[in-house]
Amino acid sequence: MYYTERKDDSMITAAEQLAQLAEELGCRVYRNEPLCEHTTFRIGGPCTVMIAPDSVEDLSKLVRFSTEKKIRTLTMGKGSNMLCADEGFNGVVFLFDNSLGEIEQIDDVTLRAYSGASLISVCRKALELSLSGLEFAYGIPGTVGGGVYMNAGAYQGEIKNVVKSVTAMDTHGNLRTYRPSQIGFTYRGSRFCYSNEMIISADFELAKGSKQDIEGKMKELIGRRKESSPLNFQMQALPSSAPKVSSQASLSKTAGCAAAQSAVLRCPKNTADLS
Ligand SMILES: Cc1cc2nc3c(=O)[nH]c(=O)nc-3n(C[C@H](O)[C@H](O)[C@H](O)COP(=O)(O)OP(=O)(O)OC[C@H]3O[C@@H](n4cnc5c(N)ncnc54)[C@H](O)[C@@H]3O)c2cc1C
Repeated sequence: MYYTERKDDSMITAAEQLAQLAEELGCRVYRNEPLCEHTTFRIGGPCTVMIAPDSVEDLSKLVRFSTEKKIRTLTMGKGSNMLCADEGFNGVVFLFDNSLGEIEQIDDVTLRAYSGASLISVCRKALELSLSGLEFAYGIPGTVGGGVYMNAGAYQGEIKNVVKSVTAMDTHGNLRTYRPSQIGFTYRGSRFCYSNEMIISADFELAKGSKQDIEGKMKELIGRRKESSPLNFQMQALPSSAPKVSSQASLSKTAGCAAAQSAVLRCPKNTADLS
């Protein structure tokens, strides 16, 4: 993803009105927040306003207001798959980074996780309840929202294999629940890449398993991940003419992000901080 926006005064005024509404609702609100503070690659200039919603009801009011006022919005999880422009984003960012991050057990084998929950914490909850199926996701940095959006996967596992339903919010603040057949999962994609909806929660249907086996599998996979891509690395993105040497470098290259191409990026906080 590559986001760049022009400044425009009417957008700033409307965004400020939205910020005030969010504050009245008790949400966390940031103004001129640098996106680089929220992206793994530590790049991205400021957004006009950033809001971390604490409840679906509040979010619904805010989304409705944004649509009425024609405010540009961007949804962001842990920013582990986003490249943002140095110019920043002239609009409002809804941040799901531990906000709206509850995980509940719905029945014997089903977990409901809200979009701000990290994939890692959902895996840990499944382990605690001896539920198998999400082991593959242990180690994928990012949130449930980001994971559903792009059908995250690793080691022959994919989110689509364990999703029972996804609830999303449209631009009018209304909720709709989708069955897997309606989500249009593809390799690293879903309907949400095109639909302009916000993912609110996902129900994961798992299977009763042996805690020892689940833990063993999670440890094995995180070990393999650390071997192939150390989590506490210092990463250097490459000039565009350079050959592909790592998935991270290639991401910067593919996005044609000039800032990233010359930058030496410090250990990405979100990647090291997997909780
Ligand atoms: C070191 C490293 C290793 C990785 N390994 C893997 C891997 O093994 N497998 C894999 O699949 N991916 C991997 N990724 C990519 C990344 O972790 C996943 O894409 C992850 O699912 C992104 O989640 P996020 O919360 O960080 O999303 P973000 O980066 O914040 O957002 C990504 C996209 O999702 C959208 N989005 C986020 N939340 C929502 C929401 N609630 N509603 C609607 N849209 C939303 C954003 O608008 C954006 O377009 C890796 C990344 C890194 C840096």
